[in-house]
Amino acid sequence: METFQDFGLKEELVQAVQALGFTTPSPIQQQAIPLLVQETTDIIALAQTGTGKTAAFGLPLLHRIDTNESGVQALVLSPTRELCMQIQEEFVKYSKFSRGINTLAVYGGTPIGSQIRDLRRSNIQVVVATPGRLIDLLERNAIDLEQVRMLVLDEADEMLNMGFRDDIDFILKNTPVREATWLFSATMNNDVRRISKRYMKDPKEVAVARENVGNENIDHQYFVTNAHQRFDALRRILDFAPDIYGIIFTRTKQDAQDISEKLMREGYHVSALHGDMDQKMRTKVMDRFKRRQFQAIVATDVAARGIDVNDITHVINYELPEDPEVYTHRSGRTGRAGKSGVCMSLVTSREIGRIRQVERLAKTRFHKSDIPDGAEVVR
Ligand code: ADP
Ligand code: MG
Repeated sequence: METFQDFGLKEELVQAVQALGFTTPSPIQQQAIPLLVQETTDIIALAQTGTGKTAAFGLPLLHRIDTNESGVQALVLSPTRELCMQIQEEFVKYSKFSRGINTLAVYGGTPIGSQIRDLRRSNIQVVVATPGRLIDLLERNAIDLEQVRMLVLDEADEMLNMGFRDDIDFILKNTPVREATWLFSATMNNDVRRISKRYMKDPKEVAVARENVGNENIDHQYFVTNAHQRFDALRRILDFAPDIYGIIFTRTKQDAQDISEKLMREGYHVSALHGDMDQKMRTKVMDRFKRRQFQAIVATDVAARGIDVNDITHVINYELPEDPEVYTHRSGRTGRAGKSGVCMSLVTSREIGRIRQVERLAKTRFHKSDIPDGAEVVR
């Protein structure tokens, strides 16, 4: 089994990874890191959520930064502000023993002025950005991408799903000396393929098969209810899971808001997390969730992308997502790092067919559970 030492990474990066307690490289890291360290090449890397993609591109990226050069050398595009912040924080940890590497995250929802000042102030080599805010900065001439050698598209499928296609085109056209484009994604689709065809040169492809990711840690359950008793069913499930540390997924921001408010009124320690909340609020919610001041977050798919917590015990689908791929993303929030987890879905009898569809397409097996009879439960 290969270790981080075998990849040809600079010693200070290997040390930082050891300090983080990463002992064995994950499969996608095994495939991507040595390749990206040794060759200046485009790459398409596919692996599910939670498989360690950040280090898979982050370590070779930091390895390739030349601290004697000025200007932004590497640009990472990521779909949400939370993910930008997380990637930047990870990069700071990886470069803990490296001298002179400066990384900056730029994203919307916070005043642009301070980000412009940060960009001017220090010698930033690595920028992690949401496409929208980056374009804003480009239009104000606040950032110069002329020197960018490496460009990473993280969660490319998600960015394209969120409608950042034109923004990504624009950014790719404005990085004239780009030597390598690294595309990381959980899934391949037509939009991703189009980007790779148009902007990448003979990309090497690496992928970790879904089957190898080992989801045996997740127990998939479904509960049959009817539409007007959905909320009550959720309440009872929560009553019977006093130690829950979970994410409740809704389809809309409005549902996330309404359900969290209703739960709070009934004394549950939960909070909503969705795109209509301002950035300060979302960061605060995440901090409190990490400190376990909430037992659950009621979130939309997009907002939940930013939740990187390893100890989630329960994922609850208040409603099934339309797309089985999204089911996989959601359930993948639990059962991480060798721990076990439960993914529960509330469905009406008419939706049971959709469970079968997820079983087929996402290669999961469900079992049916009964909604606990919560009448006598005292919290
Ligand atoms: P992805 O981007 O594929 O969803 P992340 O990069 O966010 O996954 O990593 C998921 C979690 O796994 C993070 O908490 C990260 O710190 C941890 N992790 C990554 N690589 C390793 C490793 N080699 N050993 C142990 N933990 C790791
Ligand atoms: Mg990621």
